[in-house]
Amino acid sequence: MTERELHSFIDVAETSHFPIQNLPFGVFSPAGGGAARVGVAIGDWALDLAVLQKRGLLSGKAFAADVFARPSLNAFMGYGRAAWQEARRLIQTLLRADNPILRDDAGLRREAFWPMAEVQMHLPAQIGDYTDFYSSREHASNVGRMFRDPAHALLPNWRHMPVAYHGRASSVMVSGQTIRRPWGQQRPGQAGDSPRFGPSRQLDFELEMGFFIGPGSELGQPVAVRQAAQQIFGLVLVNDWSARDIQSWEYRPLGPFLAKNFATSISPWVMTLDALEPFRCVGPEQSPAPLPYLRTPGNEAFDIHLEVRLQTAVNPEPVIISQSNFRTLYWNMAQQVAHHTISGCNLRPGDLLASGTISGPTPDSYGSMLELSWRGERPLTLLNGETRAFLQDGDRVTLTGWCQGEGYRVGFGEVTGKVLAAATSIQ
Ligand code: CA
Repeated sequence: MTERELHSFIDVAETSHFPIQNLPFGVFSPAGGGAARVGVAIGDWALDLAVLQKRGLLSGKAFAADVFARPSLNAFMGYGRAAWQEARRLIQTLLRADNPILRDDAGLRREAFWPMAEVQMHLPAQIGDYTDFYSSREHASNVGRMFRDPAHALLPNWRHMPVAYHGRASSVMVSGQTIRRPWGQQRPGQAGDSPRFGPSRQLDFELEMGFFIGPGSELGQPVAVRQAAQQIFGLVLVNDWSARDIQSWEYRPLGPFLAKNFATSISPWVMTLDALEPFRCVGPEQSPAPLPYLRTPGNEAFDIHLEVRLQTAVNPEPVIISQSNFRTLYWNMAQQVAHHTISGCNLRPGDLLASGTISGPTPDSYGSMLELSWRGERPLTLLNGETRAFLQDGDRVTLTGWCQGEGYRVGFGEVTGKVLAAATSIQ
């Protein structure tokens, strides 16, 4: 049976991100309370895997009988790809249109399916460590042009390795939570002046994707680039909220710190590599050829359409301000895993590795306000005449992404967050 021929007894709209071909994993608690547990998204429903396990309908050889009753996916992520594939097969079989087990049991269906609009989503995993790469050549070049030297926009190391920094896990939050504008020291207007101190005036979003680590690796044991896919549980959308004026004052010599550690939002449903497999494609040519430990066959990219939508306090109608694609990313996920561990650094189940801002080659595909407004020099004009150089209080930023198959679509849903005014005073 081809992917296209798969059908569920659950009605799913053609533009839904969650047909039977997808089945992303997430953690939710039911409307009206109840413990957080693991589910998959199907159409407009969250399917309660804890209920299916309790009924003996999801007993796999490769995972524990209560693994979906837990409030995070860490244990399941730790089992590895054979277990993920076994669970996916069992769930997909139960949801098929020609399978009566769930389809014809009205009582069980009432117990196991929750309207997605009514459940509360949680972070899919307890994130021990969070790393943010800088893997879009277009983004790195744009930033280099703006802040350093237009003639040498990329630093000499950039084409030789996926550059990254260790981010802050404690402030990674699930979609829907509000973002408080941060205070901080900012670059002085004139070199030599004292820094400005106050709420950031250059708050920004970053369009990124991230992936969760599965089984993890031993300290001292690098993960070979060809084994890296075994470490990737699945992907989410990431918005790495950033304060540019704080960033430009603090980032030398050790890189971003407070400009990035106040909030990172992710989408709640984790799309597995198996669901993404039909959309695997060739990534950008890498020149010069990477060192042997970073060499991949070249088909390590995924064709994922990405969009950024902005709503303002005055105009709640969403306006698309950027469209990009994950396939433009120069360094792929396998290379990121191999590079992250080449020192012997260990990875653990639930670690989050993000791509860095994904900018395409054209100005309407840039993945941050910094680039879209070119550091504020060319503010965006929205449909109602409002202009934006950076985000204002009351603005809502929503990232979405999907892969278009023949007759179906698999996607990530969205990650959304609204900007709140800074605290009026600080102690
Ligand atoms: Ca970033």
